[in-house]
Amino acid sequence: MKHVKHYVAGKDWEQPGGAARRGDLYDPATGEVTGHVDFASSADVGTVVTAAAAAFPAWRDASLAKRTAVMFALRQLVHERRDELAAAITAEHGKVLSDAAGEVQRGLEVIEYACGIPTALKGGFSENVSTGVDSYSIRQPLGVAAVISPFNFPAMVPLWFVPIAIAAGNTVVLKPSEKDPTASTLLAAWFSEAGLPDGVLNVVHGDKEAVDALLDHPDVKSVSFVGSTPIARYVYERGTANGKRVQALGGAKNHMVVLPDADLDLAADAAVSAGFGSAGERCMAISVVVAVEPVADELITRITERMARIRTGDGRRGCDMGPLVTREHRDKVAGYLAAGVREGAKLVVDGRTVEPDGDQAGFWLGPTLFDDVRPEMTVYTDEIFGPVLSIVRVRTYEEAVDLVNAGRYGNGTAIFTNDGGAARRYQHEVEVGMIGVNVPIPVPMAYYSFGGWKASLFGDTHAHGAEGVHFFTRGKVVTSRWLDPSHGGVNLGFPTQN
Ligand code: NAD
Repeated sequence: MKHVKHYVAGKDWEQPGGAARRGDLYDPATGEVTGHVDFASSADVGTVVTAAAAAFPAWRDASLAKRTAVMFALRQLVHERRDELAAAITAEHGKVLSDAAGEVQRGLEVIEYACGIPTALKGGFSENVSTGVDSYSIRQPLGVAAVISPFNFPAMVPLWFVPIAIAAGNTVVLKPSEKDPTASTLLAAWFSEAGLPDGVLNVVHGDKEAVDALLDHPDVKSVSFVGSTPIARYVYERGTANGKRVQALGGAKNHMVVLPDADLDLAADAAVSAGFGSAGERCMAISVVVAVEPVADELITRITERMARIRTGDGRRGCDMGPLVTREHRDKVAGYLAAGVREGAKLVVDGRTVEPDGDQAGFWLGPTLFDDVRPEMTVYTDEIFGPVLSIVRVRTYEEAVDLVNAGRYGNGTAIFTNDGGAARRYQHEVEVGMIGVNVPIPVPMAYYSFGGWKASLFGDTHAHGAEGVHFFTRGKVVTSRWLDPSHGGVNLGFPTQN
C-alpha cells in the first residue's frame, strides 16, 4: 500500500504520530484501494507555509541564471521520466497511458516556457524622461504562491503554474487533488533533484480544511485554483477578501458547432475524440455538438459508427478510454443518463451496457450519446464531466451562436466548417475564451495563456504565457537621476518634464 506524505523543505514530511485524517487512494480500473494520502490540518498548512516563506528571500535573490538552470535540469528529468509520471497518473486517475503521456507533454511545454523566464521578465527603460532623468520598469515576485489543482490533470495543471511561479522568484505551496496526489509529490522530488533549494516548492495534501488554511494564511500572497465552478467562486471570494491575488479557473460545457458545409467525417472524428478522450473528464472536452440542419442525421450516423469502435478498459492495456475517477462520480454521471431519458432526450448509445476490458469492479461507464437534447434539460445545463455527448439540433448559424452565448460557461468551443467567413464571424461573436476552428480541443500552447470566460474563470488572469508571468509578479517603476550640483534648488511644484 502506498502512503503519500506531504513534501516540505525538500523531503517527505508527516506530523509526529501521523496524520489525524487520511484519504484512500483507488485504482479506478480495479476499484481497489491502493494506498492512502495524509490530509493536512490547518496547523500543518501553517508549518508548510512557514517553510515556503522562509525560503523566499534567498530564492527571490537567486540570479536568473540560477533559476533557469533549475528549469533546464527539470525539463531533462521530466523528459526522461515521462513514462514513470504517466504510469503514476494512470494508476490513480484511470486515464489511458497514451493520454497521461499527452498531459505530461503539455506540462513539459510550460517548463520549457519557464526556461525562457529572463526574456519574459525583461522590463522597459526610457532614457531622459526629463533632462538627466531615466525611468524603468521591473517585475518582482510576490512571495508564497498557493496552487490548488483538480483531479483531472494531476501533472499538467500543477505545471501550468508551478514552473512560472518559481522561475519568477516565488516560493510555492501546491495542494493537489486528494484523489491523485502522487504526480505532484513526484514532481516536487524531481524539482529538488534538479537543484531547487529546499522550501521553494512544497506539497501539502488534503481537502477543504487545507484549502481554507491556505486562503486565510497571511503569508500566502496569491492563489491559483483550478476546479469546479462552485469551489472556484468560493476560492476567489475568500482569497480576494483576504487581500490575495486570485485566479480561479472553473468548470465548462463546451460546444462544437457543425455547419452544413463541414466535412462530416472530420467533424465526427473530432466530436468522438473530444467527447470521449479521458472519459470526458477534461475541462476542454466537447460535451455538446450543435448540429446546424440538415447535418444532424448524417453526423449522428458517423459518430455512432466511431463510438462502436471505442475500446473501454484498463488504461494499461492499450484501450481507448479508461474508467471514471471514483465510484461516486461514475454513479453521478450514470444518473444523468436516467435524467436525460426522463426529460425527453433520445438515448442513442447507452454507456451503461459497456463491456470493459478490465476488472468488473472498476468504475466503468461506456461512451454515451443523446440526441434531441433541449437547452432546459439537465444533461444540457450541467457539467456532467463524463463520457456523455449531447446533440442539439438548430436551424441556423445564428441560433447556434445564440445558444452558445446563452450558456453560463465560456471555457472552450469549436466550429467545424469550410467557410472561412463563417469561422471568422464565429470567433468574433462567441463569448468564450478559447476557440477552435476545425480543432476540437483548442488548448493554447504554453507561450499563450489558457483560460475561459464567464463561470469558467474568476479573476482576470489566465494561466501560463505572458498572463502567467504577470500574475506571479508585481510591477515597479523607478524614476532615477544621478545628481550633479547644477540640479540643486527647492521646487514645490508637481514634477513635470523639462
Ligand atoms: P473540485 O472543485 O472538486 O476540486 C478542485 C480542488 O478543490 C481540489 O484540490 C479539492 O481538494 C479542492 N476542494 C474540493 N472541495 C472543496 C471545498 N468545499 N472547499 C475548498 N476546496 C475544495 O474539482 P475536481 O472534481 O477535482 O476537478 C474537476 C473540475 O475541475 C471540473 O469542474 C472541471 O471542469 C474543472 N477543471 C477546470 C479547468 C479549467 O481550466 N477551467 C481545468 C481542469 C479542470
